[in-house]
Amino acid sequence: MNLKGEKAVVCGAGGFIGGHLVKRLLADGVNVVRAVDVKPMEEWYQVAPEVENLVLDLKDKESCYQSAAGVNVVFQLAADMGGMGFIENNKALCMLSVLTTTHMLLAARDSGVERFFYSSSACVYNADKQTHAEVTPLKEEDAYPALPEDGYGWEKLFSERMCRHFEEDFGLQCRVARFHNVYGPHGTWTGGREKAPAAICRKVLEAKLSGKHEIEIWGDGKQTRSFMYIDDCLKGVRAITESDIREPINLGSSELVTINQLVDLVEDIAGVKLQRRYNLGAPKGVNGRNSDNTKIREYLGWEPSIRLREGMEKTYAWIEEEMLALARA
Ligand code: NAD
Repeated sequence: MNLKGEKAVVCGAGGFIGGHLVKRLLADGVNVVRAVDVKPMEEWYQVAPEVENLVLDLKDKESCYQSAAGVNVVFQLAADMGGMGFIENNKALCMLSVLTTTHMLLAARDSGVERFFYSSSACVYNADKQTHAEVTPLKEEDAYPALPEDGYGWEKLFSERMCRHFEEDFGLQCRVARFHNVYGPHGTWTGGREKAPAAICRKVLEAKLSGKHEIEIWGDGKQTRSFMYIDDCLKGVRAITESDIREPINLGSSELVTINQLVDLVEDIAGVKLQRRYNLGAPKGVNGRNSDNTKIREYLGWEPSIRLREGMEKTYAWIEEEMLALARA
């Protein structure tokens, strides 16, 4: 399927990835007719004035039918989520997103939607395969036997399976990507839902601006992760949606770093060196996680490749602007 000219709705469009996705799809010739989010419009990170922007709670079935009306393609990114600080402390809220995806699937099926994209997560992977910082990158089959992240990961795994069965039983063409830590400008950087890259940029900036050269790090800093820049994520979402990939697939960078190395990098961008305090009681997630990209390379001849340094420079610059604008206000 070529998405060019297809009518699409983006759910979760007021959020980080959804906001970028609307703009990118429009720029690339997809006819995004509608963008939907539960947040009041003034809290959306990006708004495209040329589309119908709706503030709706997609846990509500009627809102899903309204959102899916007249479109061929659904991008379902709406989810109540955040970084480890949020998902470890809000498991019921995370699991309630099951209503959103379930109702969107029903609405898509009944409205004649041709293709349904669902944003799953690396949090579906079996925790026993992520106990060491020296990781073996996670292959798609490592989601089973199931032992995902409690709350958030279980919901994602369940919704992946709903997509699969909607395709098998009702013929709704579903495409599922497992995102691995996406970062970039126009995302959450404060307030409790932010993820490590944005949180570290903010903390380094706070230390630099206040002259108090200290930083708190969650865990011992030795935990490993990979981080995918938003532009790679958007490219992957489009390619996966257009493809014939009928199984959930990793969409992540395989450039592995420790959290300490991520802090080194942001210190370097900022031109400061900070005293590190390790908070061993803070939520820190699994010890190590990386994306095995064998499958995406096989299917698409492509994998996310934007270097962490390049993406973090852009992310840091945007958060700095946001913080300075707030300070001036
Ligand atoms: P985000 O929180 O910035 O965006 C999600 C948006 O969904 C928010 O604007 C939120 O208001 C909206 N939403 C939540 N519940 C809703 C509801 N009931 N009705 C309508 N809108 C609702 O998060 P993001 O980083 O842009 O993530 C987008 C998707 O990608 C999510 O499904 C998330 O689980 C998935 N994902 C993200 C990452 C990442 O690193 N950012 C990693 C894995 C998976």
